[in-house]
Amino acid sequence: MLSVVSFLRGSGLVWRGLVCLGPAVAALLAGAGAGLLAERLAVIQLVEQAGPRRDVYVEGLRSELGRHETLPAVIAYSASLRQLLASPGDDALRQRANTYLEQVAAASGAAAVYVTDPQGTTQAASNWRGPASFVDMNFSYRPYFRDALTKGYGRFYGIGTTSGEPGYYFARRIAEKEGAGEDAGVAGVVVVKVSLSALEHTWAQAADRVLVSDGHGVTILSSVPDWAFRTLEPLSDGLRDRLEATRQYDRVALRALEVRRQGDAAGPEAAVLRIGGGGGPLFLAVSRTVPGTDWRLMLLTDMAPVQHARHVGWGGGAAAAALLALAGLLIHQRRRTAQAQRATRAALEQAAQDLEREVAARTAELTAANADLHRTQDRLVQAAKLAALGQLATGIAHELNQPLAALRTLSDNAAAFLARGKPERVTENLSHIAALTERMARITGQLRGFARRSDRVSDRVSEGAQAAISAPVQVSAAVGNSLSLLAEKTRRLGAQVETTVDPALCVAFDPVRLEQVLVNLLGNALDAVDGQPQRRIAVRASRNGDRVRVQVDDSGPGIAASALPHLFEPFFTTKPPGQGLGLGLVISAGIVQDHGGQIHAANRPEGGAMFTLDLPAHD
Ligand code: ADP
Repeated sequence: MLSVVSFLRGSGLVWRGLVCLGPAVAALLAGAGAGLLAERLAVIQLVEQAGPRRDVYVEGLRSELGRHETLPAVIAYSASLRQLLASPGDDALRQRANTYLEQVAAASGAAAVYVTDPQGTTQAASNWRGPASFVDMNFSYRPYFRDALTKGYGRFYGIGTTSGEPGYYFARRIAEKEGAGEDAGVAGVVVVKVSLSALEHTWAQAADRVLVSDGHGVTILSSVPDWAFRTLEPLSDGLRDRLEATRQYDRVALRALEVRRQGDAAGPEAAVLRIGGGGGPLFLAVSRTVPGTDWRLMLLTDMAPVQHARHVGWGGGAAAAALLALAGLLIHQRRRTAQAQRATRAALEQAAQDLEREVAARTAELTAANADLHRTQDRLVQAAKLAALGQLATGIAHELNQPLAALRTLSDNAAAFLARGKPERVTENLSHIAALTERMARITGQLRGFARRSDRVSDRVSEGAQAAISAPVQVSAAVGNSLSLLAEKTRRLGAQVETTVDPALCVAFDPVRLEQVLVNLLGNALDAVDGQPQRRIAVRASRNGDRVRVQVDDSGPGIAASALPHLFEPFFTTKPPGQGLGLGLVISAGIVQDHGGQIHAANRPEGGAMFTLDLPAHD
């Protein structure tokens, strides 16, 4: 248990438990309080209402008795009775007395009226006709008789020993001399028995329960038949003997009526009683002494409305407390939610500030990195420009080297022919030299043209077309001139060049530019076969409608698939630095397109590369 409590305390569940239990306890307490209050109020109201009703019952009983109270004194004056008592054996007098008493009883409503001699033996009675006639019966043992003898009058409530009917007995001494005082002799005793069963019967019709107990604590009248002639408190042995002697309750065995006092007395004359043991009903009892008797009348009111009020009070109180507790809980919950929202908002604001700081820091880093990147890019562009410039220079040198080498050979030859005295050969060589210098000038001119064109690549075709000078060019001549330019290199590499070109084939082209294109293609083919076991190059040309197709095949390694899409891009080269500029094919393609032709690169199925020129034919 301790460990459970410490666990709960540790986990903070104690508070939560109290928060949940609190309203329940409050509701219980409030319910109990409201129940008690409602009960108390209902009891007070019940007592207030019961008091006057009880008084009505008391008054009813008193007037019923009072109606007959004076009757014995009146009867005592009767001459016929006196005469009978004076001559007890006279049958005629007795008959007259009987008739008289019968009439009195009928007129007054008394149960029985009778007269005894001083020894208690009945001389005449109203019920002289019936089987239970009192005539000749002796009632000397009855207290009312003895009281009448000694005190002049007697009163008594008991069960008739002859009739078995309970009744109230009023007795009065008849003096020997009419109007005589205490000292006069006793002629007899007159008794009026009043039955209260009609009254009891009336009570039984009402909702209230009425109980009348005598001075011994024995219930003598009751609206509930079963509650009559019961003892409310235990009878002492002496009293039991006395009751036996007077036969007050005759042969009725007096059983105890179980009456238990419950809770607080609701006032001096009120009490909450449970009648008939544990399972019996609860009553609010208000009682009062009946004037002129030692009786006590008790009005018993059902406590069900009080219990109902208590339950309603209980329920209402508990519900109100539960509602209040719920409202409290809701307010508490709202407060907590508001607190949580405030905390969340603060946390969000903090997070947003952190994020802003982080973003600012990252932005600064990025800006710095960007600046670095720009610097690096600038350096790279600069380096690329320098590299391009270097390659361009190498390329120009490469382009001019071949005609320069040819010039040197031709000039050497011219000098030799001059020494040998062969001026015609000198003239021939000099004209070759002149042609070569013109070609070199054109090459540099083309480079200038490319430089200008590369600024406006998209306009290259139209601009080139305008710039191109188209003339009929013999394809075989152009091929021959190109090969002669490459003769030195061809020989050095040990390559075999096979030419199959019909001398009749002509194209509409600038002759120098066609040679430039062919030198480029043949130069690349020679580079490709360099170091190959087979070093063969084939140049073919054929006519197809108004087009001429020139094809350069080689037995080199062919073009790598990854290189194929980039062949005609500026500065694309697979050759080692200083050997390739990556401009040959770009320039060639530009020239071909300028003349309305096309250039195409592919790999041959049997190995090696194949470059095809599709050119406009010239008839
Ligand atoms: P460069 O000859 O300076 O490299 P080119 O534009 O003339 O520039 O050629 C571009 C590239 O095309 C070459 O580097 C080479 O990879 C490829 N190429 C051209 N001709 C051939 C060929 N006959 N065989 C294989 N590859 C070739």
